Amino acid sequence: MKHYVIVGNGAAGTNAADQLRRLDAEAKICMITEEAFPFYSRIRLIDYIAGDIPKEALVINKGQWYSNRDIELRLGVRVASVDPVSKRVLTGQNEAFSYDRLLLATGAHSFMPNIPGVEKKGVFTLRNIEDAEAIRSFADSAQHVVMIGGGLLGLETGNALRRLGKKVAVVEFFSRLLPRQLDVPAAGLLAGTMTKMGFSLHLGRKTKEIVGPDQVKGVVLESGETLPADMVVVSAGVRPNMELAASLKLRCNKGIEVDEGMRASSPDIYAAGDVAEFKGVLYGIWPAAMEQGKIAGSNMAGVNAAYEGTTASNQLKVAGIELAAAGNIDAECASESRTFQEDRVYRKFVFEDNRLVGCILQGDTRGFQAMLRLIRQKQDVSEYKDDMALKDFDFNAI
Ligand SMILES: Cc1cc2nc3c(=O)[nH]c(=O)nc-3n(C[C@H](O)[C@H](O)[C@H](O)COP(=O)(O)OP(=O)(O)OC[C@H]3O[C@@H](n4cnc5c(N)ncnc54)[C@H](O)[C@@H]3O)c2cc1C
Repeated sequence: MKHYVIVGNGAAGTNAADQLRRLDAEAKICMITEEAFPFYSRIRLIDYIAGDIPKEALVINKGQWYSNRDIELRLGVRVASVDPVSKRVLTGQNEAFSYDRLLLATGAHSFMPNIPGVEKKGVFTLRNIEDAEAIRSFADSAQHVVMIGGGLLGLETGNALRRLGKKVAVVEFFSRLLPRQLDVPAAGLLAGTMTKMGFSLHLGRKTKEIVGPDQVKGVVLESGETLPADMVVVSAGVRPNMELAASLKLRCNKGIEVDEGMRASSPDIYAAGDVAEFKGVLYGIWPAAMEQGKIAGSNMAGVNAAYEGTTASNQLKVAGIELAAAGNIDAECASESRTFQEDRVYRKFVFEDNRLVGCILQGDTRGFQAMLRLIRQKQDVSEYKDDMALKDFDFNAI
């Protein structure tokens, strides 16, 4: 009987455990997570902050999911080290778990930039349920919130707080919102809509300092301006949780380097999800964590499966704004593209060698699933390339 140990109970670890059980009915499967909750939706933490759902609704897999599959789940347990020679995982409480194959699905943590004042009371990041609870309870007494970072997470969290009646300012280092997902015209449209919704946007601005006695009172920008703030949420990206990989001396770059079977550089050790780097890419998105977890589970069980990458795709989940982007959005306008723009609608399709490689759909996200399929399948679109940006193009016909 094989012993599988999975460190991390997120989308990657959970999908791997599920796949392992499908392929190996006899194995002993143990999942270890330092968090106090079974598998839950990080994506919906924003709905929880906004008060749209209770905490319990975040949980995706309740206890029965684990017992039905005979998967041992250890909550609130931090793995401190791994001994690859005796093939044992050691916890902070010195408990040992033997493995034949080990999956590191340790995810990522919020990156906190080195801004003076980040240690003050009232400064938050958002990654897990504890963070969301802290933000929600502190928000009760806050009026002015400054979001540092105008990416997807910053805007969605800011919107949740705006809906709670807070005055929300967004500080973004780039000169446009969502710099990774939008080009200049799309970001301009979004900025207009968000300003109308009540956001105050400070683009192309760098935070110099968070000020206040011991609690936040304001955010000073390098331009000299001071924004009033009794709460600050920093959304400056994530960094993979690499401590175990480093102590194992696994080959790492930005994340743990894996091959197409999700194998790390040491025998019988695999990595998947936000901690894994595949062909130089750290995906950092839920669908990639799911796919990678499944592939890792297959290979750990001895069934060959190859990961081929995930098309990076994102949708902004802010009510009243329709916005989706995928693949290469050609922010520099260096590739061949077709665009459509009318009122609040902007649609852009980016091509390379007659293949769709990316798109931005704003104000009208019709056809997004079809676009994802075309990008993934690398299909030749020369036949209808010139028509795709037309207002009434029928995406169902592709
Ligand atoms: C608020 C928010 C909104 C998001 N929205 C979207 C979205 O709309 N679309 C999208 O695609 N993605 C979104 N993401 C990103 C997405 O949630 C992640 O890509 C995904 O959760 C990664 O899953 P994972 O299994 O790799 O890691 P994680 O979910 O981070 O799980 C890793 C787990 O391992 C645990 N762990 C780490 N080290 C140890 C250790 N030594 N011992 C024990 N346990 C350990 C961690 O505590 C954590 O519980 C969002 C993320 C956040 C925070």
